[in-house]
Amino acid sequence: MEQELRLLYQAIAASSNGIVISDPNQADNPLIYVNRSFELMTGYSAEEILGHNCRFLQGSDGDQLALDEVRAAVREERDCLVLLRNYRKDGTLFWNELRLSPVHDERGHLINFIGIQNDVTERKQAEDELQRAHDELEDRVRQRTARLAEANAQLQGEIAERQVLEEQLTHQAFHDPLTGLPNRNLFLDRLDLALERPGRREGEVAVLFMDLDDFKVVNDSLGHEVGDQMLLAVTERLENSMLGEETLARFGGDEFTVLLEDVASPSDAARVAERIEEALRAPFVLRGRERFVTTSVGISFSGQGGERPGDLLRNADLAMYQAKAKGKNRHAVFEPGMEQRALERLELESDLQRALERGEFRLHYQPKVSLRSGEIVAMEALVRWEHPAWGLVSPAQFVPVAEEIDLIVPIGRWVLKEACRQACRWHDRFQGRPPLKVCVNLSAKQFQHYALVKEVETALRESGLEPDALDLEITESVVMKDAPATLATLQELKVLGVNLAIDDFGTGYSSLSYLKRFPVDFLKVDRSIIQSLGEGPRNEAILSAVVTLAHAMDERVIAEGVETEEQLARLREIGYDFAQGYYFAKPLPSEAASALLAENPRW
Ligand code: C2E
Ligand code: MG
Ligand code: MG
Repeated sequence: MEQELRLLYQAIAASSNGIVISDPNQADNPLIYVNRSFELMTGYSAEEILGHNCRFLQGSDGDQLALDEVRAAVREERDCLVLLRNYRKDGTLFWNELRLSPVHDERGHLINFIGIQNDVTERKQAEDELQRAHDELEDRVRQRTARLAEANAQLQGEIAERQVLEEQLTHQAFHDPLTGLPNRNLFLDRLDLALERPGRREGEVAVLFMDLDDFKVVNDSLGHEVGDQMLLAVTERLENSMLGEETLARFGGDEFTVLLEDVASPSDAARVAERIEEALRAPFVLRGRERFVTTSVGISFSGQGGERPGDLLRNADLAMYQAKAKGKNRHAVFEPGMEQRALERLELESDLQRALERGEFRLHYQPKVSLRSGEIVAMEALVRWEHPAWGLVSPAQFVPVAEEIDLIVPIGRWVLKEACRQACRWHDRFQGRPPLKVCVNLSAKQFQHYALVKEVETALRESGLEPDALDLEITESVVMKDAPATLATLQELKVLGVNLAIDDFGTGYSSLSYLKRFPVDFLKVDRSIIQSLGEGPRNEAILSAVVTLAHAMDERVIAEGVETEEQLARLREIGYDFAQGYYFAKPLPSEAASALLAENPRW
């Protein structure tokens, strides 16, 4: 037993662990044994510390959690393992790993506590270092994750923005910017799909092609801004007249198309056209004024020959022209014969190309009568085309075509020269009378042509006609188109010394502010207005208001299309200055006009 105890004591005393024994049965649990290693570890000698509680190692910044655990273990007489921040005698810090265990006797009474203490400062520092490195790493990872998240968020944002942009671009590619309706591309796409659909019955797909009637007049006289407003208002009405299964598209300009994919009978398509006509019936209010818009609609069906989108569109377009030709504001269904008429139009174009070289144009003359003297004071030159097969073709038929194919300028040049030459011949023949004037009509393209003033000058110079003997007539809607440019042209013409007239007055929309600035000599009131004479006091009031207006602007008024004696009498009373019309004479070939002049009639 003694041997055993000695061995035990030697082991404890020589242990490289610091070992202490305290006595819990004495007040404040003092140390009753410390070994050598503990002395070395703490720097205290056994004499200095025996009899004291071990807390002298703690300093003032003890780790409360660890100390509480020690106190609890002492109180509860159990083991504990804690890491304590301790201080050596010289004040330096060391980390002390303490394993505290109670020691009981055979009867279970607590006799002391044995504490095994180790300086683990190095391990603790290494651990701390590791922890710091780990924390640093973690911090870096966190930062990098945050940066990545930010970059990702930015990327997502860019992707979303790009998607919106792409959607906008696709939308733009397939929609009309003004009205937001599907455009020509999208319409053709859908038409193609409809025609390709498997199991499609004949006549099941229909195309409506509509073109607003006389929209050009609105655009030309009121400007594009009002034109756009009108198109928007029309679009709204059209959309409201659709049932939802149709594709309504703006095909271009004032052209709209409707695709019907499920037509049971041709009358289905006609009903859509009727709904459109109905939708446009109420007046539109633009710039505070009521205006009426009508449309001509052409309808074609699949199975009418040609099954490509272009075939249906061409057929609907041909039918639309037919609707226009029949007086506008109506719809027409494509029939095979319409192609023939389109071909005739082509023939007209090619014949017109050759007409000038072949000398097929003629001028007829219609007298203009002074209502004061009752005498003929001027002759209006009206062009005719003597077609080798069709006979005399009226300008109403070929002037619009000549405009379209850019032939009007050379034709107009010829008219101007011929009219000036004829006027000179009459001057020679009827010397002694006040010089007869000649009136020449200018079409839109001629009026806008850059060389117009030069050509008028040339015609005057070559013929030797006095500028004052030439009146140039320009239609109201042409005059009002691009009014500032018109003003400049009119002023240049005026400088030449010729007279200017606004033709067909009352059919377009004149701007009063421009009207009074234009250097115009005559207002020529349109036949349709003259013919409303006798149709009630309102019309008469308008007719006399025009006279007042013109005279206030120092212009003379001409009545067009006078056909009866009553009309003439009324116009005289109201104060018209001049008149023209079948009542006096129809347009006559030059010889007949000369004969009439020789008679020198008076009305
Ligand atoms: P405009 O200048 O207003 O000419 C008057 C038109 O009304 C003429 O038709 C004339 O024949 C017709 N007219 C005259 N009096 C009466 C009447 O009492 N009753 C009826 N129902 N009609 C009457 P036209 O000769 O067929 O000419 C039609 C239009 O063609 C002209 O209208 C003019 O705008 C244009 N035009 C004629 N000649 C030329 C030309 O040499 N150059 C250009 N650019 N246009 C021309
Ligand atoms: Mg005229
Ligand atoms: Mg006229």
